[in-house]
Amino acid sequence: MKILRTIKQTRKYLAGVRAEGRSLGFVPTMGYLHEGHLSLMRRAKKETGSPLISIFVNPTQFGPGEDYRRYPRDLKQDERSAEEAGVEAIFYPSVKEMYPENYSTRVEVAGLSGVLCGASRPGHFRGVTTVVLKLLNIIDPDVAYFGRKDVQQAVLINRMVRDLNMKCKIRILPTVREKDGLAMSSRNTYLSQDEREDAVILYQSLQKAQAMVKSEIRDSKKIISAMRRMVKGRKTARIDYIAIVDPVKLAPVRKISGDVLLALAVWIGKARLIDNLFLKKKRDGRFFVSYRL
Ligand code: AMP
Repeated sequence: MKILRTIKQTRKYLAGVRAEGRSLGFVPTMGYLHEGHLSLMRRAKKETGSPLISIFVNPTQFGPGEDYRRYPRDLKQDERSAEEAGVEAIFYPSVKEMYPENYSTRVEVAGLSGVLCGASRPGHFRGVTTVVLKLLNIIDPDVAYFGRKDVQQAVLINRMVRDLNMKCKIRILPTVREKDGLAMSSRNTYLSQDEREDAVILYQSLQKAQAMVKSEIRDSKKIISAMRRMVKGRKTARIDYIAIVDPVKLAPVRKISGDVLLALAVWIGKARLIDNLFLKKKRDGRFFVSYRL
């Protein structure tokens, strides 16, 4: 496993990969890898043959008072997991390498970055799109892989790549879950045993919403109220938002008549967890859960 700490070193390594005529798949992460991350790497291996990942806990996407400092990190374990998933090299830059002195350029997807998670985490998505754009410029992959778990991030990156005419292909892959349905996340390590039990309520409330839509309930307010009641029933849970939105514009939908995204963010103790469900409308008017975006 190659650990590439500088941009220069990385470009040199990638020139070698390209010289062998291989295409390049790229998986950006913040590390502390779990099955969700590994599913992206395995797909990258299968589709491109030579996956490279990055591990970079990006300070600019954390707000003041957020968990940047205590975000879990374990490079040695990550190396082992990534290697098993077929990864050959890890781009592992320092903060200084990514943001040298007098760094001043930022990119923002207007509008979409200020809603849902963006409303409670001002500046978060500007940090995300800026670092993803930088990473894509550094690595110049053929395909980059992202998870549906962070659905707003996926929507924004798709939009940025389209708006800026970037040639990299973006693949969004399904959310990998624990046995009880909890979406895997590096932040799940923050949960105590009681909190871990409560955390499953995010998934369960989405399941409830899905059942309501399937039984012809189309009023978003009703569905959101039912989800709120469920989440509030858990002692350690505090709702940040629960929303039903259009999957392209991320604008609230009042009456469900086409494809919708059900998304929520809930504090479970000190962990802010997110989850979502994408309901697509079939030609016959019925709805089904889509694992693609
Ligand atoms: P992170 O390290 O949290 O920044 O995540 C890196 C990538 O892995 C992002 O594209 C995430 O959407 C994706 N990811 C995180 N958790 C999951 C999961 N449970 N299932 C699928 N993809 C995930």
